Amino acid sequence: MIADYHVHTPYCGHAHGKIIHYIESAIEKGIQEIGFSDHLGRYYLTGTQRRRYWDWGMDERGLVRYFSELSDLREIFAGRISIKIGLEIDYIEGAEDLLQPFLDAFTLDFCIGSIHCIPRFGWKHLSDYHAAANSIEIYSEYFRLAQAALRSGLFHSLAHPDFIWRYIRWPEQYEQIVSDLSDTVQTAAEVNRGIEINANGFIFSRSGQIKDFDPFDTLLNLIKHFNAPVTIGSDAHDPAMVGKAYPELIELLLEKNIDSFRSFTEGNAVERVLG
Ligand SMILES: [Zn+2]
Ligand SMILES: [Zn+2]
Repeated sequence: MIADYHVHTPYCGHAHGKIIHYIESAIEKGIQEIGFSDHLGRYYLTGTQRRRYWDWGMDERGLVRYFSELSDLREIFAGRISIKIGLEIDYIEGAEDLLQPFLDAFTLDFCIGSIHCIPRFGWKHLSDYHAAANSIEIYSEYFRLAQAALRSGLFHSLAHPDFIWRYIRWPEQYEQIVSDLSDTVQTAAEVNRGIEINANGFIFSRSGQIKDFDPFDTLLNLIKHFNAPVTIGSDAHDPAMVGKAYPELIELLLEKNIDSFRSFTEGNAVERVLG
């Protein structure tokens, strides 16, 4: 089976096209299951927390409509493609108990947890800290939060662990970072939660922007080593980007003997054979 478990929609306010076009694009590319995972906004946080974090996701009203529209499309496309309804949610340490009741109000298939900013170093998107002198500390904190997100039990998979090295300069001394990455993959295996293999991480790896080392390759080797569950996604914000780079990515995964991934129905995971 081929599935894309990281797809956005116009409901987040920064993705293009209509939802139906994402679905048609997936069908054209031979994808049998499409998992929508649009950004949840931060309306569930306390007032003080909301002021700190920038908001780029659906508000409560948008979420109701998102869920309703996808439920309708699931019926319309039944037999042609399987549609799963999920969310991408920023992991905000300390706000776990605030989030859970909002999630309980919907019958979601899955949630992926992301770290796009690191409060200890500032509230902005990680790209704002690209050339930071203390990049090793930022990496350490990123992977500490990633492990906390996995242990929180809120998420079925950790979204794009490669996000950090796409935005924060990869330091010359990276032994500690590789160790932190390894601990993160090991944590996923221990708590039986997924690590996402994100097409953007693959494309970045192929671009050769990090000289003499490929953290994406290391990530795949660690996934295999710890036998960690995985999800696979394109992070498409445009219909044409659904399943982007999938033929090459899947070939690489099979070469690495990563030959299964997780699919979800109402929060229950099933292992699927990849390809
Ligand atoms: Zn993300
Ligand atoms: Zn995303």
